[in-house]
Amino acid sequence: MKYYSTRNAEKKYTAAQAIAKGLADDGGLFVPETIPLISMDEIKSFCGMDYRGRALAIMLKYLDEFSKEELEGYVNSAYGDNYDDDRIAPLHFTNDATAYLELWHGPTCAFKDMALQMLPHLLTASLKKTGEEKKVCILVATSGDTGKAALEGFKDVQGTRIFVFYPKDGVSDIQRLQMVTQEGGNVGVCSVTGNFDDAQTGVKKIFSDLQFAKELEGRGFFLSSANSINWGRLLPQVVYYFSAYCDYVNSRKLELGEELVFCVPTGNFGNILAGWYAKQMGLPIGKFVCASNENNVLTDFFATGVYNKNRPFHTTISPSMDILVSSNLERMLHAYCGDATVAELMGKLNSEGIYEVPSDTLGKISRDFTGGVCSDEQTKIEIKAVLNKSSYLIDTHTAVASKVLSDYREETGDNRPAVVVSTASPYKFAGDVVSALGGNEKADALTELNRLSGTKTPKPLLGLGKRQVRFSENVESGDMKQAVDKFLR
Ligand SMILES: *Cc1c(COP(=O)(O)O)cnc(C)c1O
Repeated sequence: MKYYSTRNAEKKYTAAQAIAKGLADDGGLFVPETIPLISMDEIKSFCGMDYRGRALAIMLKYLDEFSKEELEGYVNSAYGDNYDDDRIAPLHFTNDATAYLELWHGPTCAFKDMALQMLPHLLTASLKKTGEEKKVCILVATSGDTGKAALEGFKDVQGTRIFVFYPKDGVSDIQRLQMVTQEGGNVGVCSVTGNFDDAQTGVKKIFSDLQFAKELEGRGFFLSSANSINWGRLLPQVVYYFSAYCDYVNSRKLELGEELVFCVPTGNFGNILAGWYAKQMGLPIGKFVCASNENNVLTDFFATGVYNKNRPFHTTISPSMDILVSSNLERMLHAYCGDATVAELMGKLNSEGIYEVPSDTLGKISRDFTGGVCSDEQTKIEIKAVLNKSSYLIDTHTAVASKVLSDYREETGDNRPAVVVSTASPYKFAGDVVSALGGNEKADALTELNRLSGTKTPKPLLGLGKRQVRFSENVESGDMKQAVDKFLR
């Protein structure tokens, strides 16, 4: 199967080329030329498989240059005993028509692991297949979850180095501790004075510094990114939509062929877009409810067809969704209005920060998607309500989706079986969850959360404060290049 850019359908690439490049030269995102269809019989056969079997079957359809044996090896190491639940992405039902899809049983306790435990395998294999001889250095600017998940995914992977910048004042205590205590011989971590935007802008500058790229080439390195625009990050996420559907059917709360609704806490639009691909492949999905926090640019977009990033940026208690430009939306737009229109709209987004899709396009989009917003205050109320009513503890991001789903049901009367996509362990955002539950905010947040909920701290977060701090360097945003330079000496 071939891939091409969302901004130019003429030039074709192999899967390995698309994954090795990450972003197309014209600034567009790679999309598959055709979408493989999956029959109901095949979905039925997935119901008899475990997560690894489902992952292998689905990924093979998009990666025909990879052998079955090759992919099987990757699947087994990406979704093995690095997860603390054998089911990998289990469903937790709170009633017969509502389940939470827990995507946080991996090594960093957030859903980024679902893709970033797989990406290093796909990327290193793709580099080999494309004949790349230089070593790759993955450069990441993170607001918290991506950095740690990328570090865990790439640690000690041969032929790779990884360097992560995080904003000094922009990550939670637990996220920071997770990163500065990171193990592995090929990793580096550094804080940047300022907020996430400062770190992100700094990384983009390094990427566009051709002189620096040349110098690194001389040392046998090239820079690449692990963010969610890479097809190799999106594809592994398609799997858990099929998996959730099969588990719903296996629980006898859904008939095979019946439509399921998904509500997804959204930032960069990667997670929900993977679900949209699953639907295009034939998975019966009734509606995608796109849940936002106060950075509700997508809610407005689905309601009006106008995407407008010219608005105040809010720092919320669901920080992984604090995003004003949802990059992956471009892939969906491409499917509805084609490469020429996408190139034009993205140009407008770049120059004016705003674009509007034609009204017939909005009509088509609205058949699949609707949006909803949830404030910090409502998020906290939802966490408490779900624990009280269903004895189930959820994190701040999941709570946004949980609340938006109940609003959606109330407003539309659509009470079909639904899945709330749960993107982080509540322990990862323990401080805010404790506060939501009215607990003692002065106590150790993890212990307090054990006490309030009767649940256990996930293993990867235990003893974090006692681990050796390996990285304590801080740079001004203007000095980020020097930090990378030093790291690659
Ligand atoms: C990254 C992240 C999100 C947002 O996912 P997107 O794919 O960017 O839409 C939501 N919740 C958590 C916990 C995350 O880490």
